[in-house]
Formats: sequence, structure tokens, C-alpha cells
Amino acid sequence: MESATRPFTVRRSTRARHVRLTVTREGDAVVVLPLRAPERAAAALVEQHGAWLDRQVARIRATRVRLDARPTLADGRVLHVAGVPRLIAARDTAMRDRIERSLRAEARRLLVARVSLFAPLVGVRPTRVTVRAQRARWGSASRAGAISLNWRLVLAPPDVLDYVVIHELSHLAVPGHSRRFWTLVRRHAPSADASRRWLRDHHAELMAALD
Ligand SMILES: [Zn+2]
Repeated sequence: MESATRPFTVRRSTRARHVRLTVTREGDAVVVLPLRAPERAAAALVEQHGAWLDRQVARIRATRVRLDARPTLADGRVLHVAGVPRLIAARDTAMRDRIERSLRAEARRLLVARVSLFAPLVGVRPTRVTVRAQRARWGSASRAGAISLNWRLVLAPPDVLDYVVIHELSHLAVPGHSRRFWTLVRRHAPSADASRRWLRDHHAELMAALD
């Protein structure tokens, strides 16, 4: 059998308590080591999870190929806005920025309306709703009762957008991802599992929608 040497980088962390293997969005393997862990623990972990790592890298490469195959924004690209296909074309960055601002405004109106609809059903009252351009997450909820949502959710199917709204609203009632939390989420978002899969599979595409 051939032993594959997989390249990886090591990052030392003062906060890490265990050795951990992650893959960046670019498809590079990174091993996070607690300060005192021996260097060889990194290679051992990469070796041990080689098959998993290969699958992740293959998935990321496939996504890159898919994204590279899209028409450019200058040529015009079809995006689904609130579930409706729309041809988006931008000759230059100024035009692209105008499009983003207008999509963000649309997202804000839609997200605020969905929060108003679902908050009483979930039984919570958010103190503030912020719409942002987070790169890595779809939403978050604070202890103070504020929720923040990613504007790019307007590019997801409506039931996926609703799922994220319900997820964050549910955190105002139940912090953490306990069984009780998921029961509450699924009561209002019956397709929560399909929505989570959809978001995982389309994460890169949505984040790069206007790239
Ligand atoms: Zn959560």
C-alpha cells in the first residue's frame, strides 16, 4: 500500500485543550495543537483521519470547480432572490456594490418581517434584529436578546431562510443546541434538517454569490 503524504500546517493555540484537525475553505489541512502537545501528534492525527481529510479536500475542490464554471457577474448570473430567479449583471465594482446594497435592503425587509411573524410563535421577543454580512455564519443570538442574521439568506430558498430565523429566535428561549432546543426549532421549522443540509451544501456558493 502506498502511504500518502498529506501536507498540513500546525497552529499552536493557548486555548485548545485537545489536538484538532480542520480544513480551511481553501482546502488546506490545519492541525491545532495545545501549547504542550508534541509536534508528532499533528502528523499522527492527519494520518489517522486521512480518508476523512481526502473527502473534505475533494468536496472543496468540487465546489471550486462549480463556482469557477459560473458565468461572471459582467456576463450576468442568475441568483434566486427570496426564491425567485433574477438575472444579476454588473459591469464594474461600483455597480456590483450598488446591487449588493439593494439586495441587503431587500434582505433586511424580508428578514425583519419573518422575525416579526415567528417571534410570537416561538414565544420570544428579540430586543434588536441586525442584518450583517458575516462570512462564516448565517446568524447568531446574544444573551441580551438581540439576533443578527446574514443578508445572503435572501439568496436561499424561503424555507431555509425561515429555518435560520427560527433557529436564532429559539436560542432566545433555549441557549445551546440541546435536545430541547431542536424540539423547539423543529416544531416551527419541520424541514430544519433539510435546510441545514442545504446550507452546508450551498455555503460557498451563497458567500461568493457576488464575487
Ligand atoms: Zn445555534
